[in-house]
Amino acid sequence: MNSVLILGGGFGGLAAALSLRDKLGTEVEITLVDRRPYFMVGFHKTWTLIGKTSLESGQRPLAALEKHNVNVILGNIESIDPKERSAVVSGKRYQADALIIALGAQLAPEMIPGFQDHALNVYDPEDIPRAAQSLQEFSGGRIMVGIFGEAYKCPPAPFEIAILVHEMFQARKIDVQIEVFTPKPMSLPILGDAGCSVIEGRMDEHGIGFFPNHKATGVQSGKVTFEKGERKFDLLLGIPPHRCPDVVKESGLTAGQPWVPVDPGSLQTEFEGVYAVGDLAKVMMANGKRLPMAGVFAQAQAQAASEHIAAAFQGRKPEHTFSGEGGCYLEIGGGQAMMIEGKFLAEPKPQVSLSEPSTELVQEKEKVERELLDILSP
Ligand SMILES: Cc1cc2nc3c(=O)[nH]c(=O)nc-3n(C[C@H](O)[C@H](O)[C@H](O)COP(=O)(O)OP(=O)(O)OC[C@H]3O[C@@H](n4cnc5c(N)ncnc54)[C@H](O)[C@@H]3O)c2cc1C
Repeated sequence: MNSVLILGGGFGGLAAALSLRDKLGTEVEITLVDRRPYFMVGFHKTWTLIGKTSLESGQRPLAALEKHNVNVILGNIESIDPKERSAVVSGKRYQADALIIALGAQLAPEMIPGFQDHALNVYDPEDIPRAAQSLQEFSGGRIMVGIFGEAYKCPPAPFEIAILVHEMFQARKIDVQIEVFTPKPMSLPILGDAGCSVIEGRMDEHGIGFFPNHKATGVQSGKVTFEKGERKFDLLLGIPPHRCPDVVKESGLTAGQPWVPVDPGSLQTEFEGVYAVGDLAKVMMANGKRLPMAGVFAQAQAQAASEHIAAAFQGRKPEHTFSGEGGCYLEIGGGQAMMIEGKFLAEPKPQVSLSEPSTELVQEKEKVERELLDILSP
């Protein structure tokens, strides 16, 4: 029987397992590895941060994939051998006919001196309880939402965090000044000037100060230093730089580049039968920038890679490739959200726009989470 080894049980890994099972039925043995025993969507962290819910309510055990006939191995992936399509997990070697690598982006707070001592890492589930507690206890002053790297997961999320945190303090009648900084020249460059002015206008309505072109070099007690100047804070909600996981870099899959180069349609790496999907895969857009890191793309890429693997096993032509179409939600307060959506891989440039705000989009976002969690419910 053919076999597939999936490394990572996040958005990409989960979608790959389900898609392969769907396409190949009982014709394939599927094994999925993750060191984290549960699945959780990225945006659940923000809802926990603002006290809307608890972290645990958004987690489901990966072991529940066993009911879909997927072998789940919990352990640390210590090395990957793409030539052999194998990996060593907690000292034991696993090998398969095809390999899907979906290990996401590694958060790298250590790249910014002082980050770990003075910032709350709002992208790390481990740090969310401490960050939520700090917000609960905050009695007024300046909160900074800082983007410390160029490429980070879900580009609208920091702006959403700033708006929702502001709304939370408004409801509690506590006076806070919120600022957001980014190394980029505008909030979401993919939207161009018109789209960015809508988002920046929304922040302005909430009295949130916005500081583009601010590349942070370090954090000290109560202040962030930038290439030019510094700004003071009372509480810093930080989005650390992201990088490719060490275990992937060490395997040679990045070929000396920051992320894993792949064929944009099939997601195959330079090694036959080895696919990389999600945040660690480098897919370029026609504007010369990397496709944004988003769960919606990790899922679609996993489905495309699974289709190519299924086709190879069944000796047929693949029926679809990754198209780069999709969208991300941006909650803007008042129970409403907008959608940043379009054709990200369109030629000669990405066709991406911002939808009108609506309450239905928040309900849709909640439904996305519910449906994913249902898959892993007992
Ligand atoms: C605050 C926030 C809000 C977001 N909102 C949205 C949104 O609204 N829409 C959207 O589309 N996306 C959103 N995202 C982005 C989305 O979560 C990511 O893009 C998505 O999770 C990427 O999927 P992935 O499979 O590449 O990686 P991940 O989902 O990160 O999965 C990687 C998995 O690999 C495992 N792993 C890593 N290294 C090892 C190792 N050495 N050994 C064992 N296991 C390992 C990890 O434990 C993890 O489970 C958001 C992200 C954040 C942080």
